[in-house]
Amino acid sequence: MSMKNQGLALAGVAAAMLLSPTAIAGDDVRYIVKYQQGKGQAVRAQVQSEKGKVKLDLPGHRAMAVSLTPGALKAMQNHPHVEYVEEDVKRYLLSESTPFGIPMVQADQLSDAAAGNTKVCIIDSGYDGGHEDLLQGAVVAGTNDPGTGNWNTDENGHGTHVAGTIAGIGGNGKGVVGVLPSGNLNLHIIKVFGADGWAYSSGLVAALDACKAAKGSENMVINMSLGGDRKSRTEERAFNQADSEGILSIAAAGNDGNTRHSYPASYSSVVSVAAIDSNKMIADFSQQTDQVELAGPGVAVLSTVPMGSASVASLSVAGSPVDASGMEGSPNGSISGDLVDCGLGESACANAAGKVCLISRGNIAFSDKVLACEAGGGVGAIVYNNEPGMLFGTLGGVATSIPSVGISDTDGAALLGQLGATASIDVTADNYAYFNGTSMATPHVVGVAALVWSHHSECSNSDIRSALVATAEDLGTAGRDNAYGHGLVQAKAASDHLASNGCGGGDTGGGGGGGNGGGKGKPNR
Ligand code: CA
Repeated sequence: MSMKNQGLALAGVAAAMLLSPTAIAGDDVRYIVKYQQGKGQAVRAQVQSEKGKVKLDLPGHRAMAVSLTPGALKAMQNHPHVEYVEEDVKRYLLSESTPFGIPMVQADQLSDAAAGNTKVCIIDSGYDGGHEDLLQGAVVAGTNDPGTGNWNTDENGHGTHVAGTIAGIGGNGKGVVGVLPSGNLNLHIIKVFGADGWAYSSGLVAALDACKAAKGSENMVINMSLGGDRKSRTEERAFNQADSEGILSIAAAGNDGNTRHSYPASYSSVVSVAAIDSNKMIADFSQQTDQVELAGPGVAVLSTVPMGSASVASLSVAGSPVDASGMEGSPNGSISGDLVDCGLGESACANAAGKVCLISRGNIAFSDKVLACEAGGGVGAIVYNNEPGMLFGTLGGVATSIPSVGISDTDGAALLGQLGATASIDVTADNYAYFNGTSMATPHVVGVAALVWSHHSECSNSDIRSALVATAEDLGTAGRDNAYGHGLVQAKAASDHLASNGCGGGDTGGGGGGGNGGGKGKPNR
């Protein structure tokens, strides 16, 4: 199965594809040579006579970094003026990555220092309260639910991913950054989904009540990365009521790739959010309706998942790295073996004992392909795509015992020309993953709404909504359309617009003025 569309607005899990550093084959190995007092010149001469190269002098440490061939190492170790030789091991930049969506919505152009005046209520599957890159403590609270358990655990992973997009901690050298990365935003977590990822409409109404109960003097934005295709009168009235009480509700347009309305997104009192990719193109799964109002980044969005619940995979063949994604559900492990062609992997792979199986996608489940590799004695499995692009796969909960990864169609074709070469697969646990969905677009818009509101706390929910609509970057056909709505949400532009025009001074077309709900469903220019 592909990354797209796995029912409702609860997008499925895509595997992590963070790349880990891989050694470059063919380099001489670098060493640090420590020499005796006053013997630097003699040792340098020895390095040169062994056809090595001095890469860096550290005279204050009586040491030099050198590159040596394997044969020269022994000679240097035995040199009378050398105290010791050690490998010059690699050090990597410890950093956090900024997901592409953060600058795309201008979140990096607007300070969130004042966000303590704003609260986001996330109605989802919970929140990993132990996550290294998520807020803890006073700014985060939640409501436990007798049906789904404690708000600060997340058996599904979806809610933790949403939370990271809104408020992943910035500047801590770990993971990601959210739209509001400074830890000032208040979060309230309502857990309506357990591991299976569905809830009743009545549960959503109760969750909305719980959000309202958690609202103090702060302005509140509600994130609903969820939905279903049937309306509820009770729900609609509840969201209309919340709107009239000054709460801004934002929901996912839906992932079914059709033109049907999804709810709650398609109530007029709720902002409906479409998903675009890093090229600002509409995602094929994003539902296109006359209710779509704004678009946000929602394809291959990197964010937090419960600690250790994701995997990061790396693959190298003949010493060269190949982009790979860990199969969701793959056991962790680090293996090497000769690459063997197992075709479609529909039966036990012949000649695979001790080897790494190269298997084409198609006909049967990924788990059956991995099991066919195991049955032939294979130690690891690589499944390549049979359509353009990277393969992100899942084992669907089937137990397998060897590490498995997905790769692109083009890399698959290239590896078919490298049969017999040594392939190394490494799959390790990780705390971050790439997800797709209007579920991932929604928290970008929610975060931007909260960020903009924090700068203009005197404005109403509909003022903020109007400003987001008026300043969205128009995408697709000129003016509003059903795919992108008014376009990509823009934090800085919306805040500047309010600063210039005042809360109610929007030029949103139609009736303008207050209470127009952002001109939902109507062109704004
Ligand atoms: Ca971080």
